[in-house]
Amino acid sequence: MDLHFLGAATTVTGSQFLLETGQARILVDCGMFQGGPNEAIRNRIPLAFDPATLDAILLTHAHLDHCGLIPHVVREGFHGPIRATAGTIELARLVLLDSGRLQEEFSKREDRWERRHPDRAEAEEVREQAALEAAIELAESGEHGTPPTPEAEAFGERSRERADDAPTSASATAAGSGPAAPGTIRNAQEAAHAEGAHVATSIEPVGGPGRPDHERELRATVPELKPDLDAPLYTERDAVESLRGFLPVRYGEEEEVAPGIHATYLDAGHILGSAIIRLRVQDVPGGPERILVFSGDLGRTGAPIIADPTPMHDADYVLCESTYGGREHEPTAEAHRILAETVRLVAENNGVLLVPSFAIGRTQEIVWELDRLVSAGEIPALPLYLDSPMASKASDIYRRHTEYFDEETRALFESGETPLDYPKQIVVSDMAQSQAIARARRPYMIVASNGMLTGGRVVGHLRNLIDDPAATILFVGYQGEGTLGRHLQEGAKTVRLDGQVRDVRCRIASISGFSAHADEPGLLAWLSGFAGGRKPGDQGFPRRVFLVHGDPGPQAELAPKVTALGFDVHVPRWHEVVTLD
Ligand SMILES: [Zn+2]
Repeated sequence: MDLHFLGAATTVTGSQFLLETGQARILVDCGMFQGGPNEAIRNRIPLAFDPATLDAILLTHAHLDHCGLIPHVVREGFHGPIRATAGTIELARLVLLDSGRLQEEFSKREDRWERRHPDRAEAEEVREQAALEAAIELAESGEHGTPPTPEAEAFGERSRERADDAPTSASATAAGSGPAAPGTIRNAQEAAHAEGAHVATSIEPVGGPGRPDHERELRATVPELKPDLDAPLYTERDAVESLRGFLPVRYGEEEEVAPGIHATYLDAGHILGSAIIRLRVQDVPGGPERILVFSGDLGRTGAPIIADPTPMHDADYVLCESTYGGREHEPTAEAHRILAETVRLVAENNGVLLVPSFAIGRTQEIVWELDRLVSAGEIPALPLYLDSPMASKASDIYRRHTEYFDEETRALFESGETPLDYPKQIVVSDMAQSQAIARARRPYMIVASNGMLTGGRVVGHLRNLIDDPAATILFVGYQGEGTLGRHLQEGAKTVRLDGQVRDVRCRIASISGFSAHADEPGLLAWLSGFAGGRKPGDQGFPRRVFLVHGDPGPQAELAPKVTALGFDVHVPRWHEVVTLD
């Protein structure tokens, strides 16, 4: 059987793995590449498979970088089931509809911009086309195991520019990734070639010998097809269509998902409904069985609300995420201490606390912690504005799915507590309300999306607070390279907002202990479960561990430590195909 690493290979977005056996073809995750334009252009390369021949898509969780290309693949001809937990299905609906809508909006904005700046638009198109070609070449070099050309390699380097802890579609679009392509490039090109061939062989020359036949030349020319790189990859309507294929699965219940492939979903402790997927695979009927484990995104042990990642004990092949290779989160107690201290300082200064936060997972956790700190009397109960429509909808989904909570949170719910709500919270619905927050009586707190200041409502608050010494911006998630969030975190003295240079006079603080991902010790602890006192060659001891979903630096730091656990470690290239025996 063959495993194709179609995304999240030496990068942290675009998770997509194609498993081909002698009897079936399935996809594990179908995520969108996010980040700068060079990363997003990867969404537009031709699909590496014919979607009509796929038996199923198995989805680990609802973050856009894991589910974002599903509507595209469905539109291209996939008709099979998309299996995910009930929590993931509800969250994915939210994420995919939002993504379709944002892509349509972005596409319209691009059209308007191009009409106003025709000269610059042409140069931009040439650049995008070159990036697309470099991406296709990089993918092909991965498939064939050939070294990429310098251009394609440079593209790969440029595009690996950020690790996203919990990306949202808003951040992706605002970061300039734009909507991805109408995925018909391959089909259109094939059609063009086929037609060209037909034309070339079927037209009789009309000119005499030695005379140029312009008509024939013209008709024999294969039309150059340029995909419209600014068209939405899919629309909100396509997203709605794709939801029909979703089928709910329960944690721990094994099901046959395709001929010879049995899948079990186990709690990954990352966001609501997130799963580790364990596959029992027979390449051919009656042949030997292999166990494949896909970690998905692994959560942080001890994080509130949801359960811890499920420990695993045996596999033949493991695909493990590596986002935080080489990094250790500060202890939870320290994270709580910094949060409490920051809130107290804001209260004393009669200031404003702005927490940029991802809508799904992080916002719920921050609200949970603030609620707990107020209950414990550790912070004053400042008013809290929740300014993210998506986060509010995600919180509603969390409230409906108490079955996914950890014991502590479930006990709180059963005793009548509402840990997903802060006592003095104000849920902001429209833009007018969002803008009115600036006139509210201080001190107060705002939690707003998105988490890396690349777009969303948080940017409006940043405009008001950036040069206000009584304001504090508190980062609680990973800030990708090149983002405004990262610049501020690294101590920028000035930033450009709306084309103006603004001084940074507000206080900047960061906490890493609220990450939705396991840190390096967490990843190693989870992986060591597969060793279980056995040695290479023993039953259940992995033949190979693939490190995926990580940037090259963290992967290089993690790999030798995983090797030290006794495993044969491999870091696959983008589009690499590995045969599993
Ligand atoms: Zn995730």
